Amino acid sequence: MRKPIIAGNWKMHKVRDEALEFVYLVSQHVPPIEEVDTVICAQAVLLRSLVKRQGDNLRIGAQNMFYEDKGAYTGEVSPVTLEDAGVKYVIIGHSERRQYFHETDEDVNKKVHAALRHDLIPIICVGERLEERENNLTNQVVERQTVLALKGLTQEQVKNIVIAYEPIWAIGTGRTATAEMANETCGFIRSVIAREYGQEVADEVRIQYGGSVNPDNIKELMAQEHIDGCLIGGASLDPYAFIKMANYKKL
Ligand code: PGA
Repeated sequence: MRKPIIAGNWKMHKVRDEALEFVYLVSQHVPPIEEVDTVICAQAVLLRSLVKRQGDNLRIGAQNMFYEDKGAYTGEVSPVTLEDAGVKYVIIGHSERRQYFHETDEDVNKKVHAALRHDLIPIICVGERLEERENNLTNQVVERQTVLALKGLTQEQVKNIVIAYEPIWAIGTGRTATAEMANETCGFIRSVIAREYGQEVADEVRIQYGGSVNPDNIKELMAQEHIDGCLIGGASLDPYAFIKMANYKKL
């Protein structure tokens, strides 16, 4: 019922030639967009060229943006520019942004509103730190992050956003949450959305898992009831691995 969404988060990797080659190759081997949404999120300076090469079934996303349309904000990227470049998705509130660039839940919420004003689908990242999991605070943390990120959105808007549950201790560490663990927290996030926006909205909203996803574990993760997609960092840099993961149904 919910269309799967497989997204690569390249972070601060790849120069233009490599990126164009990757997108050209991969776009010919991803499933039809009617079946799976496949997305590559790249550095801002590459986005416009990648959109030109995306083909019919691949879409391009940004990794961050600012919440104001324009103004004296040296170094920031405007949602207007992203929309104008033909970008369809934007990752918001990734844990690296929260940790290194001090993004708050309030910033995340403002960015989500700005993205929706410009027809960009936000991929909103939530997730707990290792010590929070060890102290049984996982649900409390992801509930706070989810509720605050979605504050002020309509039911219709919430249906169209994507949430990425990324336990921070699993990002780039090779330490994946077990499929059951990931499913349990994604299910909990869905229950929070049901409480806030109703069951119909919760049944439609897509929730990804992220954190050391690779071609060997994606199938089991995607088989879980509440996991509708994956946000993939390291393993998305290799085009052949990414093609495999986009075609996880065939693995
Ligand atoms: P990883 O990163 O797949 O390298 O763990 C995931 C992410 O940060 O989105």
